Amino acid sequence: MASNYTDDWKKRPEPIKKKVIMCGETRCEEGRHSFKTNMRKKAARLEKKTYRNGSCICCNEEFDIDWKRIDNRDLGDVKYLVSKLKLEAVRYDFWEIPVEEKDFDTAKKKGLLLLRKEIRKRVEKALAPPSHKIYQDGRQTPKSGNIIYYAQYAMATCCRKCVEEWHGIDRKKQLKKKDIEYISGLILYYIKKRFPTIKEEGLLEEPIIKR
Ligand SMILES: [Zn+2]
Ligand SMILES: [Zn+2]
Repeated sequence: MASNYTDDWKKRPEPIKKKVIMCGETRCEEGRHSFKTNMRKKAARLEKKTYRNGSCICCNEEFDIDWKRIDNRDLGDVKYLVSKLKLEAVRYDFWEIPVEEKDFDTAKKKGLLLLRKEIRKRVEKALAPPSHKIYQDGRQTPKSGNIIYYAQYAMATCCRKCVEEWHGIDRKKQLKKKDIEYISGLILYYIKKRFPTIKEEGLLEEPIIKR
């Protein structure tokens, strides 16, 4: 069965899996930047202590991003957040590049009902502990295999570093219940927005929950 979560997917560039997208990737000339502090630079490590850089780490350009507004962490204001997330190369790509068809098909079978539970489990396991308690924080989210992963990159919820960069939550602290709810809400927003044909009820009786 052909998937057509978006009408023009065949005209679009090759799927994400075949493209290697790096988290701190920049294509400034195309208007796609990165606001994540490069902690590999010692000065940045000592001075900043946070992954939120505010301006592009490559071209140094400052953008009109209302960080205070973003830090309200209001799901009702998610459109604003997304408009700013797309300034970043990695977020933009995960919004715009087609996903693997099988990943979409599996999600469709699960339905939103199961996906909601799966998202929650994923956030609790992969993101709730503080950064230093997560094995290789920054690498815990595969780039394909589940639409939740695509959502995580697109919404800057792939690792505690990106969560700190965009959502202003200290990576050294355990996520609170309300943070888990907010992050889960962001992931669900992406799924509903990008794949509006996924229905509430899927076709699966037993949940396939891959953690
Ligand atoms: Zn830039
Ligand atoms: Zn990340």
